[in-house]
Amino acid sequence: MEEKEMKSLWERARELYLRLTSSAADRSKAERHFSMVEDLRKNGDILTVSLGSSMTKSIFENEMATKLTDALRLAGAPESFSVEYVVATPKPITIAPPKSTVPSAAAQDSAADDEPLGLSLKEEYVFSEFVEGMSNRWALSTAKGIAKDPGNKIYNPFFIHGGTGLGKTHLMQAIGNELKSTRPDLKICYINAEAFMNEYMNSLQKHTIENFRQRYRTLDVLLMDDVQFMASKNNLQEEFFNTFYTLQNNGKQIVMTSDVAPKNLPALEPRLLSRFEGGIVQSIEAPQFETRLAILKKKAESFSSLIPEMALVFIAENIRSQVRAMEGALNKIKVLAENDPSFKDNISNTVLHIILKDQIDKEKKIKAITCQDIIDAVCNRFNITLDQIQSSERTQELVLPRQMAMYISYNFTQLGYKQLEMHFKKTHATILSGVKKFKNRLDTEPQIVEKLNEVINKLGFSMKDMKD
Ligand code: ADP
Ligand code: MG
Repeated sequence: MEEKEMKSLWERARELYLRLTSSAADRSKAERHFSMVEDLRKNGDILTVSLGSSMTKSIFENEMATKLTDALRLAGAPESFSVEYVVATPKPITIAPPKSTVPSAAAQDSAADDEPLGLSLKEEYVFSEFVEGMSNRWALSTAKGIAKDPGNKIYNPFFIHGGTGLGKTHLMQAIGNELKSTRPDLKICYINAEAFMNEYMNSLQKHTIENFRQRYRTLDVLLMDDVQFMASKNNLQEEFFNTFYTLQNNGKQIVMTSDVAPKNLPALEPRLLSRFEGGIVQSIEAPQFETRLAILKKKAESFSSLIPEMALVFIAENIRSQVRAMEGALNKIKVLAENDPSFKDNISNTVLHIILKDQIDKEKKIKAITCQDIIDAVCNRFNITLDQIQSSERTQELVLPRQMAMYISYNFTQLGYKQLEMHFKKTHATILSGVKKFKNRLDTEPQIVEKLNEVINKLGFSMKDMKD
């Protein structure tokens, strides 16, 4: 099989896999996991898939393998074909080599020079698809202002913060999408802090840092998602500060999102903090019932004849924690309604309860599980005491469980960093940094993924339930 054939087989299998995944939430997760595939190699009948992190490898092996094998077969892979998953040696994403240099072998297969910078925008993330509510009205109105007049000092920079799945990325990309059509002359880049960091490290390794800088510092609009991942990485902060400084001084628009307000980003350099706060900082909160219902109606517009309004009300009442989770529930109902013409007439609250049992259970579990349960489970697994978790002793035997407990608590309770303070007897900045450090360790230390899995399973969750 030619390399090209193999790539197209993989592409078809990926498509099929996504089609076989009925919930929108799971689909978008799967898409994210697929985007972590860094390389494909075929050796005899074995396809080796290199993944960007050990966490992703574990997800592919434990959660996706069976369905993916089916998808590969459906896509035309021979019976004898098997797949193995490995962690790629760090090879960051696309940064085009400068035209003047002779491309190295490694550079040849990377992006073309004229390829748009950053990550692509989702078509459906536009203003007309974004529902206004009390929880997001200021952020929405600022975003629309920026889309009309990017670079205007009043809005520059614009910093949006708020919990997971509440619409930050949607709003940020809506600015990008709007400008793409109204101002095709502008050079716009949407990227997240993690990808920015990867590109930066890559360009250091490949000695293309000048090219990297040139590309980012000549933008008209920089949309930087999830800047919390930048916190506590000093060289990255330095690079970002310089990019930021150049852009802002030239009157170019910068928009950022994060899960916490700028002042709660740990270890953020004071000069960056004052820049972040120098424009407009706004938050998005969890939507209230009316907004949740309006969002569902919007998302169900194209298939509204299939689904009675009471089903939407049911979802809005029972699933409150994240808009993303509501969408997952809606999608499940949609698939059923599409396949059963009598669905609409037979639907009732009881039936909905049965159909959406998993989602509702998860919602209940999130509500029911306490930080104390989590700390207990971690203490049990590692044979340590609550006092030790709360202490400031920094031996490895304590640091790992402490960070793990912080990470799980952040993921599976509805508590924010601030509210976790008393449970860990640490400042929210220390907790945030613990969560991030643990997340990074998951990528580099596979043994930790297994330990995490054990504790999470004990608590009645699986890795699939992770917030992000
Ligand atoms: P965040 O970046 O805050 O984690 P996203 O922007 O990814 O959240 O939003 C998660 C999902 O919820 C997306 O599919 C988005 O379209 C949807 N969503 C969130 N808020 C709204 C809203 N107000 N109107 C319409 N869709 C929304
Ligand atoms: Mg986001």
